[in-house]
Amino acid sequence: MSRAELESLQLQRLKETVLRASKSPYYGSLFKSLGLSPESFTSLDSLGAFPFTTKKQLRDSYPFGTLAVAPDEVVRVHASSGTRGKPTLAPYTSNDLRTWATLVARSLRAAGVRQRDIVHNAYGYGLFTGGIGLHYGAELLGATVIPAGAGRTAQQITLLEDLGARVLCSTPSYALNIGYAMEESQKPLSNFKLEIGIFGAEPWTEPMRQQIERKLGIKAVDIYGMSELMGPGVAIECLEARLGLHIWEDHFLPEVIDPQSGLVLPDGEEGELVMTTLTKEAAPLLRLRTGDLTALTRESCSCGRTMSRMTRVRARIDDMIIVRGVNVYPSEIENILLQVDELAPHYLLILRREKALDELSVQVEIKEEIQSSWTNTEHESTKLRELEQRIGQLLKEHLGLTAGVELAPSRSIGRSEGKACRLVDLRQG
Ligand SMILES: [Zn+2]
Repeated sequence: MSRAELESLQLQRLKETVLRASKSPYYGSLFKSLGLSPESFTSLDSLGAFPFTTKKQLRDSYPFGTLAVAPDEVVRVHASSGTRGKPTLAPYTSNDLRTWATLVARSLRAAGVRQRDIVHNAYGYGLFTGGIGLHYGAELLGATVIPAGAGRTAQQITLLEDLGARVLCSTPSYALNIGYAMEESQKPLSNFKLEIGIFGAEPWTEPMRQQIERKLGIKAVDIYGMSELMGPGVAIECLEARLGLHIWEDHFLPEVIDPQSGLVLPDGEEGELVMTTLTKEAAPLLRLRTGDLTALTRESCSCGRTMSRMTRVRARIDDMIIVRGVNVYPSEIENILLQVDELAPHYLLILRREKALDELSVQVEIKEEIQSSWTNTEHESTKLRELEQRIGQLLKEHLGLTAGVELAPSRSIGRSEGKACRLVDLRQG
């Protein structure tokens, strides 16, 4: 579709969405208080006059404040992983589920998955949208799905080997976990037929992608989504370019804003992703602030797709930590750690408060082979201390961050089976 055709479809769908949203308690009363009517939306630009929807507002309207259809039209409810308090619920009509499966199938196709493929799905099944979302999309594509879920890693490796899956879907941290377990099982990579990994649901970095690709002998593709919008399959990298994630703009209208001022930023500038759903029936959302930091481009892609792309999500605004006045995202620390040859890609950040000052310590595993080559040599403690100092120096140079560095023995940091927990915050006792 050309941009002009796409924008005319978006406008038609935006009008339908606004009309639908006005039937929900949340948007209904908001429209009334702002003196807006669905007829106020005459162009895509007129959306700019509408306030943002925040995740807090969604939580406050728990359970179904944004529900725009009769309750008996809802055929399924998922929930976001509410780390504190109540989760955010995601209701779906049967049309919503069809759209979701279609967009996941489209995403998988763009990532190089084909009908003949075996897809090993190691995303968690349940309220989390990862497992079930990928599952139905892969089935719709006609692939064979192994609904492995998360956990029982040894059994997963047996299935990967015996059934010969070409595609692995999971969080990036669990993929890495699987890669290490494969290595520990002493089975050569040639026993496996994996070629493509579809990874998402947590921020990850380019060095992490390289580590995963090497461990598993695959090409790793970034998929994006969130339960409030639909689940996975809102955007994905194409296998041809892997330069940004194509957003399915016939179903979602993206904007990027300055998180402080709320002003819409031009293409290419990084800010917070804001999304408006265009086809969602059960709980349409207007200008949802996703909390994800990215930039948009509408330039055409070498794969031929015309839909705009977002850069890989660099970080989530909510994940930012402030250490002695320095703002830093865990992914920025990951980026540095994973470029140090002696280190394994397993780390934990611990935040403490001492005498009203926040102190960060970075625990990171040393590679097994490095550790064993140093153990019981006369230089062991000197080498460890030098490495800790070098990492501390890199964090200081690149992030302006003063952090304590502790090298951890190989396999001492807990492995993730779903979304990795990278930060332990001990500041509240
Ligand atoms: Zn592309």
